[in-house]
Amino acid sequence: MADYPCPHCEKPVTRQAGGRWARAFGLVGVLISYAFAKYECAEHGALERKDFSPEIQSKMRMGSMGFIIGAVVLFIGVIVALVALQSM
Ligand SMILES: [Zn+2]
Repeated sequence: MADYPCPHCEKPVTRQAGGRWARAFGLVGVLISYAFAKYECAEHGALERKDFSPEIQSKMRMGSMGFIIGAVVLFIGVIVALVALQSM
């Protein structure tokens, strides 16, 4: 998972993910929460996506897409597994 540098100090930011989504939807929720996570710098606090350079914002969009696709694939996989189990 890529870490993005803080626009102010270039240190890698952390994502605030998990929490409510993860409790409600488990692993799928964790992936979704990563897709919409807020970024936080240890020194500069919470950061909006618009605080980052356009280049990094486009990387974030690609990354979020990956997490959403991962969540969808996982969700479909769970349903397929449940259907397969019931038909046995
Ligand atoms: Zn910073």
